[in-house]
Amino acid sequence: MFRPFLARVVVTAQATHRPLAVSNGYYARAFTDKANSSSLKHSVVTSLTKTCPSCGTILPTALPVCPNCNYIARIHDSISYHDILGLPYEPNPFVVDAALLKRRFIEGQRVSHPDAWATKSELQRDIALDVSNTLNAAYKALSSPLHRIEYILQRNGLMVAEADPLEDLELISEIMEVREEIEAGDVERIRTLEEDNDNKIREVVNTVIKSVAEKNWEETKVAAVRLKYLNGIAEAIKQRLDDM
Ligand SMILES: [Zn+2]
Repeated sequence: MFRPFLARVVVTAQATHRPLAVSNGYYARAFTDKANSSSLKHSVVTSLTKTCPSCGTILPTALPVCPNCNYIARIHDSISYHDILGLPYEPNPFVVDAALLKRRFIEGQRVSHPDAWATKSELQRDIALDVSNTLNAAYKALSSPLHRIEYILQRNGLMVAEADPLEDLELISEIMEVREEIEAGDVERIRTLEEDNDNKIREVVNTVIKSVAEKNWEETKVAAVRLKYLNGIAEAIKQRLDDM
Protein backbone atom coordinates (compact mmCIF):
# COMPACT_ATOMS: atom_id res chain seq x y z
CA MET A 1 0.00 0.00 0.00
CA PHE A 2 2.95 2.32 0.64
CA ARG A 3 4.57 2.13 -2.77
CA PRO A 4 2.04 4.06 -4.88
CA PHE A 5 1.85 6.75 -2.21
CA LEU A 6 5.63 7.20 -2.14
CA ALA A 7 5.82 7.24 -5.92
CA ARG A 8 3.24 10.03 -6.10
CA VAL A 9 5.09 12.06 -3.49
CA VAL A 10 8.39 11.74 -5.30
CA VAL A 11 6.75 12.99 -8.46
CA THR A 12 5.22 15.92 -6.54
CA ALA A 13 8.52 16.75 -4.90
CA GLN A 14 10.41 16.74 -8.20
CA ALA A 15 7.77 18.77 -9.96
CA THR A 16 7.96 21.53 -7.37
CA HIS A 17 11.75 21.27 -6.95
CA ARG A 18 11.39 20.39 -3.29
CA PRO A 19 14.49 18.80 -1.77
CA LEU A 20 13.95 15.08 -1.30
CA ALA A 21 14.20 14.10 2.34
CA VAL A 22 14.72 10.65 3.74
CA SER A 23 12.10 10.77 6.48
CA ASN A 24 8.67 9.33 5.73
CA GLY A 25 7.20 11.99 7.98
CA TYR A 26 8.49 14.62 5.63
CA TYR A 27 7.01 12.85 2.65
CA ALA A 28 3.67 12.63 4.42
CA ARG A 29 3.67 16.33 5.27
CA ALA A 30 4.81 17.33 1.82
CA PHE A 31 2.01 15.28 0.32
CA THR A 32 -0.62 16.65 2.70
CA ASP A 33 0.48 20.28 2.18
CA LYS A 34 0.23 19.85 -1.55
CA ALA A 35 -3.12 18.07 -1.18
CA ASN A 36 -4.60 20.71 1.10
CA SER A 37 -3.89 23.40 -1.43
CA SER A 38 -5.92 21.59 -4.09
CA SER A 39 -8.39 19.21 -2.45
CA LEU A 40 -8.68 17.47 0.89
CA LYS A 41 -9.65 14.28 -0.89
CA HIS A 42 -6.00 13.76 -1.90
CA SER A 43 -4.49 13.76 1.57
CA VAL A 44 -2.86 11.13 3.71
CA VAL A 45 -3.94 11.56 7.30
CA THR A 46 -1.35 11.22 10.05
CA SER A 47 -3.98 11.36 12.82
CA LEU A 48 -7.62 10.30 12.96
CA THR A 49 -10.44 12.72 13.76
CA LYS A 50 -13.97 12.21 15.08
CA THR A 51 -15.43 14.71 12.63
CA CYS A 52 -15.01 14.96 8.86
CA PRO A 53 -12.18 17.39 7.97
CA SER A 54 -14.13 18.34 4.85
CA CYS A 55 -17.79 18.82 5.92
CA GLY A 56 -17.58 18.67 9.72
CA THR A 57 -20.17 15.93 10.34
CA ILE A 58 -19.40 13.18 12.86
CA LEU A 59 -17.72 10.26 11.08
CA PRO A 60 -19.47 6.87 11.40
CA THR A 61 -16.19 5.00 12.04
CA ALA A 62 -12.61 5.75 13.13
CA LEU A 63 -11.60 5.79 9.43
CA PRO A 64 -11.02 9.03 7.48
CA VAL A 65 -14.06 8.20 5.34
CA CYS A 66 -17.20 10.37 5.16
CA PRO A 67 -20.29 8.99 3.39
CA ASN A 68 -21.93 12.42 3.81
CA CYS A 69 -19.57 14.38 1.51
CA ASN A 70 -17.53 11.51 -0.02
CA TYR A 71 -14.32 12.60 1.68
CA ILE A 72 -11.79 9.78 1.85
CA ALA A 73 -8.09 9.80 2.72
CA ARG A 74 -5.25 7.33 2.98
CA ILE A 75 -4.06 6.34 6.45
CA HIS A 76 -0.40 6.93 7.32
CA ASP A 77 1.63 3.93 8.58
CA SER A 78 2.29 5.67 11.89
CA ILE A 79 -1.38 5.28 12.92
CA SER A 80 -1.87 2.10 14.98
CA TYR A 81 -4.14 -0.73 13.91
CA HIS A 82 -5.98 -0.21 17.18
CA ASP A 83 -6.77 3.40 16.26
CA ILE A 84 -7.87 2.34 12.77
CA LEU A 85 -10.39 -0.03 14.36
CA GLY A 86 -11.40 2.42 17.10
CA LEU A 87 -9.99 0.21 19.86
CA PRO A 88 -7.90 1.39 22.83
CA TYR A 89 -4.13 0.82 22.56
CA GLU A 90 -3.56 1.74 26.20
CA PRO A 91 -3.27 0.42 28.87
CA ASN A 92 -2.73 -2.98 27.21
CA PRO A 93 -2.67 -3.30 23.40
CA PHE A 94 -2.73 -7.11 23.66
CA VAL A 95 -6.14 -7.11 25.39
CA VAL A 96 -8.69 -6.79 22.60
CA ASP A 97 -12.46 -7.29 22.78
CA ALA A 98 -12.95 -9.86 19.99
CA ALA A 99 -16.66 -9.11 19.44
CA LEU A 100 -16.04 -5.35 19.30
CA LEU A 101 -13.06 -5.88 16.97
CA LYS A 102 -15.24 -7.82 14.54
CA ARG A 103 -18.07 -5.26 14.71
CA ARG A 104 -15.69 -2.35 14.07
CA PHE A 105 -14.15 -4.22 11.14
CA ILE A 106 -17.55 -4.83 9.53
CA GLU A 107 -18.57 -1.17 10.07
CA GLY A 108 -15.26 -0.03 8.57
CA GLN A 109 -15.64 -2.29 5.55
CA ARG A 110 -19.15 -0.96 4.96
CA VAL A 111 -17.88 2.61 4.43
CA SER A 112 -14.51 1.89 2.78
CA HIS A 113 -15.15 -1.17 0.58
CA PRO A 114 -14.30 -0.35 -3.05
CA ASP A 115 -17.84 -1.45 -4.07
CA ALA A 116 -19.23 1.49 -2.08
CA TRP A 117 -17.02 3.83 -4.17
CA ALA A 118 -17.57 2.13 -7.53
CA THR A 119 -19.36 5.16 -9.04
CA LYS A 120 -16.83 7.73 -7.74
CA SER A 121 -13.66 9.11 -9.34
CA GLU A 122 -10.66 6.94 -10.12
CA LEU A 123 -8.66 8.62 -7.36
CA GLN A 124 -11.42 8.03 -4.79
CA ARG A 125 -11.71 4.39 -5.84
CA ASP A 126 -7.94 4.07 -5.56
CA ILE A 127 -7.93 5.53 -2.05
CA ALA A 128 -10.92 3.39 -1.01
CA LEU A 129 -9.02 0.27 -2.07
CA ASP A 130 -6.03 1.45 -0.07
CA VAL A 131 -8.11 2.21 3.07
CA SER A 132 -9.93 -1.11 2.73
CA ASN A 133 -6.62 -3.01 2.44
CA THR A 134 -5.26 -1.21 5.50
CA LEU A 135 -8.41 -2.13 7.44
CA ASN A 136 -8.07 -5.79 6.37
CA ALA A 137 -4.42 -5.85 7.50
CA ALA A 138 -5.39 -4.28 10.84
CA TYR A 139 -8.15 -6.83 11.41
CA LYS A 140 -5.92 -9.75 10.43
CA ALA A 141 -3.14 -8.61 12.76
CA LEU A 142 -5.38 -7.97 15.76
CA SER A 143 -7.71 -10.98 15.51
CA SER A 144 -5.00 -13.62 16.08
CA PRO A 145 -3.16 -13.59 19.44
CA LEU A 146 0.16 -14.51 17.79
CA HIS A 147 -0.13 -11.88 15.05
CA ARG A 148 -1.20 -9.37 17.69
CA ILE A 149 1.94 -10.02 19.77
CA GLU A 150 4.11 -9.80 16.66
CA TYR A 151 2.48 -6.51 15.74
CA ILE A 152 2.95 -5.04 19.23
CA LEU A 153 6.59 -6.19 19.35
CA GLN A 154 7.19 -4.72 15.91
CA ARG A 155 5.77 -1.36 17.02
CA ASN A 156 8.21 -1.49 19.90
CA GLY A 157 11.17 -2.26 17.67
CA LEU A 158 11.38 -6.06 18.11
CA MET A 159 10.79 -8.71 15.49
CA VAL A 160 9.73 -12.32 15.88
CA ALA A 161 11.54 -13.67 12.83
CA GLU A 162 10.26 -16.68 10.88
CA ALA A 163 13.32 -18.74 11.82
CA ASP A 164 13.67 -17.57 15.39
CA PRO A 165 16.06 -20.07 16.98
CA LEU A 166 14.62 -22.17 19.76
CA GLU A 167 17.23 -21.59 22.42
CA ASP A 168 15.30 -23.15 25.23
CA LEU A 169 16.36 -26.83 25.22
CA GLU A 170 13.45 -27.80 27.43
CA LEU A 171 11.00 -26.34 24.91
CA ILE A 172 12.75 -28.10 22.02
CA SER A 173 12.48 -31.54 23.64
CA GLU A 174 8.89 -30.85 24.76
CA ILE A 175 7.87 -29.95 21.19
CA MET A 176 9.67 -32.95 19.69
CA GLU A 177 8.11 -35.35 22.18
CA VAL A 178 4.59 -34.09 21.54
CA ARG A 179 5.12 -34.21 17.77
CA GLU A 180 6.21 -37.86 18.01
CA GLU A 181 3.19 -38.68 20.15
CA ILE A 182 0.87 -37.01 17.64
CA GLU A 183 2.28 -39.25 14.90
CA ALA A 184 2.05 -42.45 16.97
CA GLY A 185 -1.00 -41.88 19.15
CA ASP A 186 -4.59 -43.08 18.83
CA VAL A 187 -7.55 -40.71 18.74
CA GLU A 188 -8.04 -40.71 22.50
CA ARG A 189 -4.37 -39.91 23.15
CA ILE A 190 -4.40 -37.14 20.55
CA ARG A 191 -7.52 -35.61 22.13
CA THR A 192 -5.67 -35.52 25.46
CA LEU A 193 -2.65 -33.90 23.79
CA GLU A 194 -5.00 -31.34 22.23
CA GLU A 195 -6.44 -30.47 25.63
CA ASP A 196 -2.94 -30.15 27.15
CA ASN A 197 -1.85 -27.96 24.26
CA ASP A 198 -4.92 -25.70 24.62
CA ASN A 199 -4.09 -25.27 28.31
CA LYS A 200 -0.49 -24.36 27.45
CA ILE A 201 -1.72 -21.79 24.92
CA ARG A 202 -3.96 -20.24 27.59
CA GLU A 203 -0.98 -20.06 29.98
CA VAL A 204 1.21 -18.34 27.39
CA VAL A 205 -1.56 -15.88 26.55
CA ASN A 206 -1.86 -15.00 30.27
CA THR A 207 1.92 -14.49 30.41
CA VAL A 208 1.71 -12.15 27.43
CA ILE A 209 -1.13 -10.10 28.98
CA LYS A 210 1.11 -9.56 32.01
CA SER A 211 4.39 -8.96 30.14
CA VAL A 212 2.79 -6.49 27.71
CA ALA A 213 1.20 -4.60 30.63
CA GLU A 214 4.68 -4.37 32.17
CA LYS A 215 6.19 -3.45 28.78
CA ASN A 216 8.61 -6.34 29.30
CA TRP A 217 9.35 -6.92 25.61
CA GLU A 218 12.04 -9.57 26.09
CA GLU A 219 9.65 -11.76 28.09
CA THR A 220 6.91 -11.04 25.53
CA LYS A 221 9.21 -12.16 22.74
CA VAL A 222 10.08 -15.44 24.50
CA ALA A 223 6.34 -16.07 25.04
CA ALA A 224 5.66 -15.26 21.37
CA VAL A 225 8.17 -17.90 20.24
CA ARG A 226 6.54 -20.45 22.57
CA LEU A 227 3.06 -19.53 21.29
CA LYS A 228 4.25 -19.94 17.72
CA TYR A 229 5.37 -23.51 18.40
CA LEU A 230 2.21 -24.34 20.37
CA ASN A 231 0.13 -23.03 17.44
CA GLY A 232 2.18 -25.35 15.21
CA ILE A 233 1.28 -28.29 17.45
CA ALA A 234 -2.41 -27.32 17.41
CA GLU A 235 -2.22 -27.29 13.62
CA ALA A 236 -0.47 -30.71 13.54
CA ILE A 237 -3.12 -32.19 15.85
CA LYS A 238 -5.91 -30.87 13.66
CA GLN A 239 -4.21 -32.27 10.56
CA ARG A 240 -3.68 -35.68 12.18
CA LEU A 241 -7.31 -35.89 13.36
CA ASP A 242 -8.54 -34.91 9.88
CA ASP A 243 -6.40 -37.70 8.35
CA MET A 244 -7.70 -40.38 10.72
ZN1 LIG B 1 -17.68 14.92 5.13
